Amino acid sequence: MSFSPEKIIKNYPLKELTSFKIGGNAELYYMASTVSELSEAYSYAFSKGIPVFVLGGGTNLVVSDKGLEGLVLHNKTKDVCELDSEKQRIRLSTGFEFGELVEFALDNSFAGAESFAGIPGSIGGAICGNAGAYGQSISDIFLEAEIITPTGERRIEEKAFFEFSYRNSILKREPYVVLTALFQFSSGDLSVLKQRTAEIIETRKSKHPNKDVGCAGSYFKNLPPQEGMNRRRAAGELLDKLGVKSMTYGGASVFQNHANFIINSGQATAADVKKLASLIKDKVYKETGIRLEEEVKYVGKFEE
Ligand SMILES: Cc1cc2nc3c(=O)[nH]c(=O)nc-3n(C[C@H](O)[C@H](O)[C@H](O)COP(=O)(O)OP(=O)(O)OC[C@H]3O[C@@H](n4cnc5c(N)ncnc54)[C@H](O)[C@@H]3O)c2cc1C
Repeated sequence: MSFSPEKIIKNYPLKELTSFKIGGNAELYYMASTVSELSEAYSYAFSKGIPVFVLGGGTNLVVSDKGLEGLVLHNKTKDVCELDSEKQRIRLSTGFEFGELVEFALDNSFAGAESFAGIPGSIGGAICGNAGAYGQSISDIFLEAEIITPTGERRIEEKAFFEFSYRNSILKREPYVVLTALFQFSSGDLSVLKQRTAEIIETRKSKHPNKDVGCAGSYFKNLPPQEGMNRRRAAGELLDKLGVKSMTYGGASVFQNHANFIINSGQATAADVKKLASLIKDKVYKETGIRLEEEVKYVGKFEE
């Protein structure tokens, strides 16, 4: 399918496209289902001076109640899916879900993606935020990706270009869009891989809210490791100790099973969520001197 400006929709509601189920409308909205459509729509917007926001699964966002100016380019591209059984590699367009990558790996007895089972969102969003769990991140299996630059140049870039670090990559700083990505796995034993994946999904179910509860996963980043330690400290443990589970603001509250999850208890606005997050940050700073940083991204305009 090719891009056509006539298919751009005006004033499109974003609420249902985010896992928080919060947010206003996109001034302009376009859903791309092929890589060429995604890249053409992106280049078109830049050529017209229209700001672009690339939306994946919407699972790491707090979208402003006032919505977003410019074009929301919804990446639903699933037209590239190439398997290299010999080299144990998979190339996918970035509109595939992260969970689909986990399934493809499992279907081929490839090891390396089990820890990511149950992480929602798209491949593009996962690369942008270097998503991960249980000490592993998508960068551990990432080889290279095709990007498009604002000037419309499409090129393949290797892993070093993406400057991956904890929940971070160059994509959080520069306006590149990842079109396709290539992942490298190793060989695994199917029954072991299946068991590990099932265990991880069960653990996540016991800790996380049901799918119908609005949230964006862990709200704050984990804390840097203490001296002499390798692993980051879970922000949730600190928040639990400080008693934040009783905190609410408007329709936003802290999830009772996991102190690092802010949830939409029904009628929350984006402003409620941001205010509750700022009350939590103030409390943590006052009581410990630690400055928490958001893992979620605020998009659109918010009152200071
Ligand atoms: C219940 C729940 C559990 C979660 N658990 C985890 C977890 O265990 N580990 C973890 O890391 N995260 C977790 N998350 C957060 C979220 O799922 C991840 O951050 C996910 O990778 C975001 O992907 P997305 O497609 O939804 O991105 P979006 O929320 O749509 O976008 C996030 C950012 O990525 C950018 N982006 C999206 N696609 C592209 C692209 N193709 N090119 C360039 N930039 C792009 C967007 O512009 C935006 O800046 C969880 C969320 C929920 C709701």
